Amino acid sequence: MKKIDILNGGYVILQDYMGSDLSVTNSARVSYNKKKDVLDDKDKGLIDFLAREGHTSPFRHTSLQFEVYVPLYVARQHWKHIIGSGFQDPFVAWNESSRRYITEEPEFYIPNANEWRSKPANSKQGSGENLSELSGGVFTKKLEEHIAEGERLYEEAMEAGVAPEQARLFLPAYSMFVRYYWTGSLQGVAHFLNLRLPEDAQYEIRVLAEAVQELAHEKFPLSLDALLKYN
Ligand SMILES: Cc1cc2nc3c(=O)[nH]c(=O)nc-3n(C[C@H](O)[C@H](O)[C@H](O)COP(=O)(O)OP(=O)(O)OC[C@H]3O[C@@H](n4cnc5c(N)ncnc54)[C@H](O)[C@@H]3O)c2cc1C
Repeated sequence: MKKIDILNGGYVILQDYMGSDLSVTNSARVSYNKKKDVLDDKDKGLIDFLAREGHTSPFRHTSLQFEVYVPLYVARQHWKHIIGSGFQDPFVAWNESSRRYITEEPEFYIPNANEWRSKPANSKQGSGENLSELSGGVFTKKLEEHIAEGERLYEEAMEAGVAPEQARLFLPAYSMFVRYYWTGSLQGVAHFLNLRLPEDAQYEIRVLAEAVQELAHEKFPLSLDALLKYN
């Protein structure tokens, strides 16, 4: 299983998948009771036609299951894509580690000194230029201290007998890594990519989207390119 490392400790894996470029075209050709065993140039044309004309249902006879490990603030943005990702039932397409049950050590996303961004000059959301490494280093250190204090209070509460499901309130949640499975059809994945690859999406979810794109492209090269081309 290929694993792409992202965001100082996170990763994305394509855990499982169903279908191929050929299954997309066979799903379209079933209307004529036709089926092929090998993809050819005509299939390339058909995939392009389907994406261009918005005949999207053949792309939904596919499924991609990703295991993702990212900071919670990225997972929250990713979760907004659960409607279009629902393969059969949107409510089963997302499962996440919650820290209600698990005893795994919490891990946190801490930007390096050269990874802190300034407030944008002309927009209410997003980021501007990177801060200097000197200023960034100060915030990396402050975040490390903040997380250490949160972990200390978490442990103190647990040792005092507080339930893990409440003790987790002390953990700095936005930066805490969470692990989840996200399953969607290729159409849902492409819709996510169309919204989260552009520059206006937050840098951290763009990094996640680029990894998802690389993994999905290996299995559905023609279909994914066509869906992204016609957006
Ligand atoms: C740059 C950026 C900034 C954002 N900022 C914010 C923010 O500040 N706050 C916030 O809450 N969200 C924000 N979002 C999230 C955004 O509003 C969407 O919720 C998110 O991108 C998921 O996309 P989606 O709604 O298309 O859902 P997806 O699950 O990706 O796709 C759903 C698909 O199904 C279709 N669909 C959904 N419901 C129906 C229906 N009932 N009938 C027919 N079709 C349906 C949609 O048209 C869409 O094609 C932001 C997104 C981006 C890209």
